[in-house]
Amino acid sequence: MTTTTPPTIGHWINGQAHPGSNDRRGDVTNPATGQVTGQVVLAGAADVDAAVGSAKKAAAGWAATSVSARTQVVFRFRELLNERKGELAEIITAEHGKVHSDALGEVARGQEVVEFACGIPHLLKGSNSPQVSTGVDVHSLRQPLGVVGIISPFNFPAMVPMWFFPIAIAAGNAVVLKPSEKDPSAAIWMARLWQEAGLPDGVFTVLQGDKIAVDGLLDHPDVASISFVGSTPIAEYVYERASRAGKRVQALGGAKNHMVVLPDADLDLAADAAVSAGYGSAGERCMAISVVVAVGDTGDALVDKIAERTATLRIGEGTRDADMGPLVTRVHRDKVASYVDAGEAEGATLVVDGRQVEADGASDGFWLGPTLFDHVQPTMSVYTDEIFGPVLSVVRAGTYQEALDLVNANRYGNGVAIFTSNGGAARAFEQDVEVGMIGVNVPIPVPMAYYSFGGWKSSLFGDTHAHGVEGVHFFTRGKVVTTRWPDPSTVGGLELAFPKNS
Ligand code: NAD
Repeated sequence: MTTTTPPTIGHWINGQAHPGSNDRRGDVTNPATGQVTGQVVLAGAADVDAAVGSAKKAAAGWAATSVSARTQVVFRFRELLNERKGELAEIITAEHGKVHSDALGEVARGQEVVEFACGIPHLLKGSNSPQVSTGVDVHSLRQPLGVVGIISPFNFPAMVPMWFFPIAIAAGNAVVLKPSEKDPSAAIWMARLWQEAGLPDGVFTVLQGDKIAVDGLLDHPDVASISFVGSTPIAEYVYERASRAGKRVQALGGAKNHMVVLPDADLDLAADAAVSAGYGSAGERCMAISVVVAVGDTGDALVDKIAERTATLRIGEGTRDADMGPLVTRVHRDKVASYVDAGEAEGATLVVDGRQVEADGASDGFWLGPTLFDHVQPTMSVYTDEIFGPVLSVVRAGTYQEALDLVNANRYGNGVAIFTSNGGAARAFEQDVEVGMIGVNVPIPVPMAYYSFGGWKSSLFGDTHAHGVEGVHFFTRGKVVTTRWPDPSTVGGLELAFPKNS
């Protein structure tokens, strides 16, 4: 039997593949087969310096490039992405495991941010106030930051980087992207696409790696800002360390998203939504629903309807006709399964058990079927912890107020949904709930690119959300200019008092 060495996945520095300067490597697996398909290089300090150095060199020229010329490059990137999104989706399925249709959906949501960034000339416009005082005008302008760092998680290897880099690049910055070491190839594919679109070398850099690469970016004096997305403990760490180093930081963390179902809701609609949002992408979405709060007497009927639908789901390889793929790694699969063991031990009612799933795929794949718990208590670990897998918990609440209090007591505040046919109840919920993104009869309320994405509480550190106008502000710095052009007919003179308007 011949064994072949899996290919090496390197960095992308100064417009070319870079093999890395040390021999540290991480395994990349196909989650549907369990096979190692690649070895990603893991950056050391020298690689961080090379990546940031090349980005710094490119940043000044790119910032000085006209807004029209920059926009045309972003527009070409959009056209190429749209033509070839199938290729990118295949890479995502091969390293992340999500089914092909879901991978295509991820690319489409990222592409929307690229389309938003094509409007950068309008978004960068400043304001102008003539004659604020006699003969004095004021205008404002926004300028790029320089080199900006993006650190992304495994669960959206294309979309999450695209929440940030189209706007950062369109605004005139140079980007260093540190993707997840679990699925690093999508970033390299996007780097090549930027080059084809005409982006100058060095404006988009991919630095592969783990904590060493992250810490290198957080501390590097030439990196002006950090946009991080990942789990809450790391987001908190990144926020503190990069802020201490004087950088602008937005650090998006974990989630525990509730779906509140009121007694007047359409229960079929609610059950469809709970299954789609609970088990889509095997629950590995920061906007996945992981808790259904059944209010009043809805619980029994709702649990039956969710269980019926769960039984129809096809689990299998993402390249086949499946609804749900495997989990990202064996370690993560086993961790999620351990929560099912814990939920059972703590006394929750296990309605659907995903541990014995029959998947349409290789026996070594990282499979775990959809799992449903009923009568979950807020003290149980299946409720308190972010599981990030296909495990849905139903908590029973007597009243609307009890449901609202439960959601607001949770440490996370990323997404939430309410299902009801009562407009007044939905309106009150929208006002009172302490969560950043709210769906009314919509289970995964991911904002469109021209709004901003971000949660509250332990789901986001920093005050700026991703994309939309907040994204433009994050990647630019403002200036206000006060101007007086002397009128040749007026006479100057000294005035030492504090300037006041006249
Ligand atoms: P993660 O926190 O393990 O990794 C995220 C990034 O941080 C990766 O690039 C990783 O290499 C790096 N990293 C990991 N450990 C580190 C350490 N000790 N020091 C420095 N850097 C480190 O997250 P993940 O498992 O890749 O992704 C899943 C998590 O991301 C979930 O918690 C999910 O909720 C969250 N997420 C949040 C959002 C959001 O918008 N709030 C979106 C997507 C994912």
